[in-house]
Amino acid sequence: MEPFENKICLSSPTMHGKEMQYVKEAYQTNWMSTVGENINEAERLACEKVDCKYAVALSCGTAALHLAVKLAGVKPGDNVFCTDMTFAATVNPVMYEKGNPIFIDTEYDTWNTDPIALEKAFQIYPDTKAVVIANLYGTPAKFDEITAICQKHGAVLIEDAAESLGATYKGKQTGTFGKYNAVSYNGNKIITGSSGGMLLTDDKAAAEKARKWSTQSRENAPWYSHEEVGYNYRMSNVIAGVVRGQYPHLEEHIARKKEIYLRYKEGLKNLPVSMNPYDEKVCEPNFWLSCLIIDKDAMCRQVRSESDACYIPKRANPALLKF
Ligand SMILES: *Cc1c(COP(=O)(O)O)cnc(C)c1O
Repeated sequence: MEPFENKICLSSPTMHGKEMQYVKEAYQTNWMSTVGENINEAERLACEKVDCKYAVALSCGTAALHLAVKLAGVKPGDNVFCTDMTFAATVNPVMYEKGNPIFIDTEYDTWNTDPIALEKAFQIYPDTKAVVIANLYGTPAKFDEITAICQKHGAVLIEDAAESLGATYKGKQTGTFGKYNAVSYNGNKIITGSSGGMLLTDDKAAAEKARKWSTQSRENAPWYSHEEVGYNYRMSNVIAGVVRGQYPHLEEHIARKKEIYLRYKEGLKNLPVSMNPYDEKVCEPNFWLSCLIIDKDAMCRQVRSESDACYIPKRANPALLKF
């Protein structure tokens, strides 16, 4: 297979060795299931890393967000504020519960939800049940402002930290600002299990509820007894072996991502573009993805159809270069 010639892969996984050992242990001990030592350890490592009380290992970050939306009590027709610039998985779980997503504008400082727009949205929709905040590309949102606004209006804050594992805001890890928080171990994330995710919370009852929902809502009885709808959302012990092996390398991955970010920033500094920004006085991103905006007057003409983009190539205007 050689599909990657002349290509730079976007966020390809980096394995270190121990992952395979833990996977092998799962095989050799026959814990080829959604129960086992790797799951327990992966949950423990997640709690230790982000400093939260409970972690529930799940099949993916989207499942974690779905259970977070359910825990927040979102019912059909309830309003939920969501960011208007993120991956679709931030919002899909709101739709699973037939909530009514309302998209809040993004600000330029962090490329995340604008607190001013959020406050304004509460003036228009005061009865909003929950707010889902994503930390886009690994840069934390403005949590001082956002937390205060959610508290003031009695809305449950859900943090989509799928992309930002290891990032901090005022010294505190992302994945701890919401009442319910989601992280992802998808193949393209900062650390990976090939897939997988976790729900993080300090609320014991919520963690227990999520664990039950994720294992088909089986009641605590010696026979199969079910009183509510359940899901098959639990993480596999094989996947958990990979996640477990990756955790000790999280900081190393972040350091490398930061190098890449700074290299782009330096290398592209004379071009009419700006990289995804962050305020180093308040946060330290995990630099998961390096992105840039091309200045409007330097962008070539572009036409888009439903599935294609056509760029009309144009020579750079030397006046726009910042030499
Ligand atoms: C990757 C991602 C998710 C979903 O995580 P999965 O583990 O792929 O389900 C959710 N939100 C954001 C912002 C993501 O980037």
